[in-house]
Order: sequence, then structure tokens, then C-alpha cells
Amino acid sequence: MEEKIALVTGASRGIGSQIAKTLAKKNIFVVVNYSGSKEKAEQTAEEIINAGGKAVVYGCDISDFYATEEIVKQYGRLDILINNAGITKDNLIMRMSEADFDRVIEVNLKGAFNTIHAAARQMIRQKSGKIVNIASVSGVLGNAGQANYAAAKAGIIGLTKTIAREFAGRNIQVNAVAPGFIETDMTEKLSDTIREQATQQIPMKKFGHPEDVAEAVAFLTSDAASYITGQVLCVDGGMAM
Ligand code: NAP
Repeated sequence: MEEKIALVTGASRGIGSQIAKTLAKKNIFVVVNYSGSKEKAEQTAEEIINAGGKAVVYGCDISDFYATEEIVKQYGRLDILINNAGITKDNLIMRMSEADFDRVIEVNLKGAFNTIHAAARQMIRQKSGKIVNIASVSGVLGNAGQANYAAAKAGIIGLTKTIAREFAGRNIQVNAVAPGFIETDMTEKLSDTIREQATQQIPMKKFGHPEDVAEAVAFLTSDAASYITGQVLCVDGGMAM
């Protein structure tokens, strides 16, 4: 059987790094994308290789349309695309700068468009593919202080459903995973007060871990999920139910 290739964007740290490691354990060759954290990306790839898996690192800013096209061209095959790269630049709308709004949309939403645009031709040629876009409960419920982020993540959900419809007849499944609060660098910067308020909103009364998200992604990219498309799977301790 031909080896499967996965591209995980933003895989140097946090959820993306864990997704890369989880997919690699399933004998998938993983392209570990990063933008700034080269050493951490290399560390992720090294852990995969030391565990007997296959991985390479690929640095590029996912919001750059042409750089993104190059990643797909480089490997000549792409079976799994995980759009995980994301940033936050939180503020109340009245204090949010235009630059902070634009940058979050560029990375979190336009970045996913870029990779999907590049991957689509290849997946159509291969007559198969799995795409998982990492959304957020903020995109499902909204979240005060995150107008840019919630708009990008709600956009990711619309993008997922639309691409799922466009590719449904071509054996390409497109789904989204919407995490709640997960312990990573992104939530590390929350103040104790915000963390306490957030925990109160979670029916399970605790933050999740990158492994919780990675296992959901692994399921959606497996053959077990081959009749599932256009769905948003919330991994959030019950927040969005
Ligand atoms: P994180 O720990 O801050 O890691 C973010 C990752 O995205 C890093 O690997 C970073 O790479 C990469 N990245 C940022 N900008 C990039 C760019 N322009 N091009 C390529 N890569 C870029 O975040 P995380 O918590 O793991 O979040 C991962 C995803 O889950 C994001 O989409 C986030 O919105 C979503 N999510 C997270 C939570 C949570 O509670 N943690 C909740 C809901 C959704 P470099 O360091 O190399 O730049």
C-alpha cells in the first residue's frame, strides 16, 4: 500500500505538534509546518522519527498564498491536510486595531483557504483526500474580546461545509474540529480570573489537552470516518452543547 502523506500546519507547538505525532503513529508521513518556531518544529519531527515514524519540517507563513502552493508541489502527493495554524490577538471591538483584525483573519481563515486551494488539485487527481480544519467553540458560540478570532473560526466552519459540498462527489471528506479550552501556549497567557471564568463555563469543569483534539482529528482522517463530511466535531468538555 502506498504511504500516506499528511500536512499539518502550525505543527511546531501545542495541538498541531500533537496531531503530527498522533498521525505519525498511524504510519503516516507527516510534513510538520511552522512559521517562527523552527527548533520546536525540528523537535516534533525528531520525536516522531525516534518513535519509528517519518516526518520532515517545512517552514512557511501559511497566510502567504504562493509559499503555501509550494508545500504541496514539493511532495507530489497529499492524502491528509490539517489546517491547524492559528493565532489570537484578543481585544474588545472598540480597542481592536484594524491590523489585529486583519492579521487574525489572514492566518486563521485565509491560511486555510490557501492550503485547501493548493491541496484540492492534488487530491482530485488522486481521487481521494481528507481535510480537517481546526475551528474553535469561539466560532460556534462567539466570545467577548475575540471578534477577529471568532469571525475567522466561524468562517472556517462555513469554509468547511462549502468545500465538503464541492468535494463530496470526489471521495474527499472535509470536516472541522472545534476545540474548547485546551492547555497550550495559547491558553497559557490567560489570566487566573479569565481561566476561572472559563472553567465555570465548561460542563466538565476542566480544560482539555492536545491529545483530546489529536484523537478526534485522527478519527476524522481514518477510513472509519469515510462517510462523514461537512461536520463540526466539538472537543470542548460540553461547552457548545
Ligand atoms: P499555539 O500553541 O499557540 O500554536 C500555534 C501554532 O500555529 C504554532 O505551531 C505556530 O507556529 C503556528 N502558526 C502561527 N502562525 C502561523 C503562520 N502564519 N503560519 C504557519 N504556522 C503558524 O496554539 P494551539 O493552542 O496549539 O492552537 C492550535 C489551533 O487550535 C489554532 O488554530 C487555534 O485557534 C485552535 N484552538 C486552540 C484552542 C486552545 O484552547 N488552545 C481552542 C480552540 C481552538 P510558530 O510558532 O512556528 O509560528
